[in-house]
Amino acid sequence: GYLNDKGVTYDYFESLAFQKMLKEKGIVQFLSLLKIFGKFQLHEHQFEHLSDPNVKQVETKMQLFWGDEFEGHVIKLYDDKKLALLNPNTSGLFQSLSEEQQKKLPFVILPEFGAWMIELTPNKPYQCMCFNFDQVLINMRKRIQTLQSYLPQGNQYVLIPVYPMLGVGRFTTTLESDLTASMIEKIRSQTSYIEGTPTLQQDEIQFQNEKLIQPATPYKELPVEPICNYFSQSIYFDDRIINPHPRYATLAQNIRLRRGSKVEIKIPLFIDQNTKIEQSEYEPNPGFITMDHMGFGMGNCALQTTYLSIDIDHARLLYDQLAVLAPLFAALTAGSPIYKGKISNWDTKWDCLEMSVDCRSENERNPKNPNHIPKSRYSTISYFISNDKMNLEEYNDLNFPANEEIMQFAKQKAQQMDIPLDQRLLRHLGILFLRDNMVMFKDKIHIDDNTAHFEAIQSSNWNSVRFKPPPSYNSKIGWRVEFRTMEIQLTAEENAAWSIMILMIVRLFFTKHIPVNFYMPLSLVDENMKRSKEKGAILNQKFYFRTNFQEFGPAIIEELYLKEIFFGKQDGSFIGIIGLIYQNRNIISTQQCSQKDEHIYQKNKKLQDEVIEFVKNKVYGNTKTLASWMRDFVISHPNYNQDSIVTHEINYDLIKALTAIKDRQKEDPHFPLIFSM
Ligand code: ADP
Ligand code: MG
Ligand code: MG
Ligand code: MG
Ligand code: MG
Repeated sequence: GYLNDKGVTYDYFESLAFQKMLKEKGIVQFLSLLKIFGKFQLHEHQFEHLSDPNVKQVETKMQLFWGDEFEGHVIKLYDDKKLALLNPNTSGLFQSLSEEQQKKLPFVILPEFGAWMIELTPNKPYQCMCFNFDQVLINMRKRIQTLQSYLPQGNQYVLIPVYPMLGVGRFTTTLESDLTASMIEKIRSQTSYIEGTPTLQQDEIQFQNEKLIQPATPYKELPVEPICNYFSQSIYFDDRIINPHPRYATLAQNIRLRRGSKVEIKIPLFIDQNTKIEQSEYEPNPGFITMDHMGFGMGNCALQTTYLSIDIDHARLLYDQLAVLAPLFAALTAGSPIYKGKISNWDTKWDCLEMSVDCRSENERNPKNPNHIPKSRYSTISYFISNDKMNLEEYNDLNFPANEEIMQFAKQKAQQMDIPLDQRLLRHLGILFLRDNMVMFKDKIHIDDNTAHFEAIQSSNWNSVRFKPPPSYNSKIGWRVEFRTMEIQLTAEENAAWSIMILMIVRLFFTKHIPVNFYMPLSLVDENMKRSKEKGAILNQKFYFRTNFQEFGPAIIEELYLKEIFFGKQDGSFIGIIGLIYQNRNIISTQQCSQKDEHIYQKNKKLQDEVIEFVKNKVYGNTKTLASWMRDFVISHPNYNQDSIVTHEINYDLIKALTAIKDRQKEDPHFPLIFSM
C-alpha cells in the first residue's frame, strides 16, 4: 500500500546538487535495460504456428498483451443543499481493503494526484490477438460497479475529465483532510522537507462522513482562501486535498520552484451575451479563466491504453504511429468544457494539463533565448524514434532541443558497456533528460539496484505517447507503448468502445502483411493537437492526415474532417482508417488465431461493427461529445444567466443528470449502450 510508503523528498534547490548524478544513473539504468532486453523478440514462428491448427501452441515466454487505465472523481451529492462536492477522503478506501481483498478484485486500485481521485486498471492485462473484445466491456463495467459499491451513501464515482467547480468556493466535502493533517503539522514546525504520509490508526481508516465539516450556506462562489498552500501558493486550491503520498505535493512544489513562480493556467473564456469581462484578484487575465495549481490539471481524469510490442523496434514504430493518431483521439473524446465554474472556449483538457505542470523557467519559455524549450514537460512528443524505413528524416521537423551533455554521456557509456545505441534512441533520451528530476527521495538517491532513477525522469515526461521499456531488470514484460490523449468518458460502454477502436488500429501493426504508414511531419501533428481542443472540433476542424497510408514513400497530406479520416473520402480515392480495418480484419484474425478460435472472431466481428457504428455516429455529429453535451446542459439550464458562469447549483444538477445516465436510470441518445450484449 502506498500509504505506508514513507519518504522524505528534497526541494528543488536541494535537489540541484544531485540532478547530474541521478540523470547519469538513470541513463545507465536505461542502457542496462537495453542490454538485457534489446534483442528480445517474440519469434516469428510464435505467430505463424497460431494459424496452423495442427501445431500445438508452443509455450511462449511472452504473449502480446494490452490494458487500459481510467480515472474518476469521487463526488458527494448533498440533495438538500444542491451541492456536488469532491470527497478528498478516498484514501480510506485503499486502507480499508486488506491485501487479500485487493487480490480478489478483478482490478487494481491506484492513487492519483487528487485525494478525491481513483484510478482503476484491470488486474491482468488482456490478450491482444485471440481474445474476446467483450472482456474489456465486462471488466470496465465490473470496475465501475464494484468501486461504486464501496463508496458510502451519497458518494458517486463519476467518470468525467474535469470537475467543473474546482477552485470555486468550498468545493470539497472537507478541508481538514485527516490524512494530511500530520503532514501539515510538519510544515508548521518549519522543517525544510516534506515528511511522508502518516500511518493511521485502524479506527481512523474508514470514510469519516460524520466528522466532515458541513459546507457553509449560503454557498460562496468566490474562492475560500486556502488554509494550506505551502506547496503551490494557490489562491483557490488547498494543498491538503492533494494525495498525501509525498510524490504529489513534492511535484507541485518543485515545479513551482524550478519555474520561479507559481504555475499559470489560462484558458479562453466562452463569451456569452451577459458575460462580464473583468479584471480582479481572482481573474487577473480578462477574457480568460485563470488557475494557479498543479491540481487544476493533474486533478483531471484520462483514459489511457498500453500495448506490449513484439520487440523494441516494433515498439518504436508503434510509438511513432500512435503519436500521429493522438490528437485525433483527443478531439473524438472531448469532455472538458468547464473550468473553475466557468464555461471555456475549449473542449479538451490537454492544454490545461500542459500549463499545470510547466516547470520551465521564464528564460526557457522565451523563444528569443538560446536555451528556449518550446514545450512543457506535459506535451505532445517532439521526436519520432523508429529506424523503420518508413520514418523519413523530413518527418522529424521540430528541431527540438535536447540535453546534449547527457547524450554525450550516454554515447560514451553505451560504448563502454558495448551496447548499440543508435542516433534516434540517443536523441529520444536527450529529449527526455532535458527535464529535471522533480521528486528525489532522500534515502533513495544512492540506491541503484533498480530502474527508479530512469523512471523518475520517464514518468514525469507526460507526453502524448510513452515508450516504456521493461519495468525492471528481471521483468517478464517487454517493450510497451502507452497511448495517452483520450479523455475519460462517462460510461463503461464508451470507454470500452474507444479502447477497442484503438486496439483495432494497433492490431494492424502486428502483422507484416498489412502495410500501414501514418507518418507525417511532427509539426503538422502538433498543429492537429492545437485544433483538437477547439469547441466542436469533430465537426468544425479539419486535420492533417496522410492519404497514401498504405505506401512507404513520402507522405501525401490533406486536410480532412474526422469523418473522412475514419470513413474515407466521398470520391473513393481514400478509404479511411475504418476502410483499412475492414479490408484487413480477415488477415488479422486468421493470422493470429487457430481455427478453434473462429467463434471469437465471429463474436468480435459483431462487436467491432458496433464500435464502428458508435464512431460513425460521433464523427458525423449524430451523437454529441461529452463536452458539447455538458456545454448544452449548462446553457439551457433555467438558472444560467448567459454570463458564462456555472454556479454550484447548476453543477449539482449537471452531476446529478450525469450520474442518472451513467447508472442507466435515464436514457440519453448521446450516451448509447453501443453493444448489444
Ligand atoms: P502508468 O500509470 O505508468 O501508465 P499503470 O500501472 O497505471 O501504469 O498501467 C499499466 C497498464 O499496462 C495497464 O493498463 C495494464 O493493464 C497494462 N499492462 C500490464 N501488463 C502489461 C503487459 N504485459 N503488456 C501490456 N500492457 C500491460
Ligand atoms: Mg496509471
Ligand atoms: Mg493515472
Ligand atoms: Mg498511464
Ligand atoms: Mg501513473
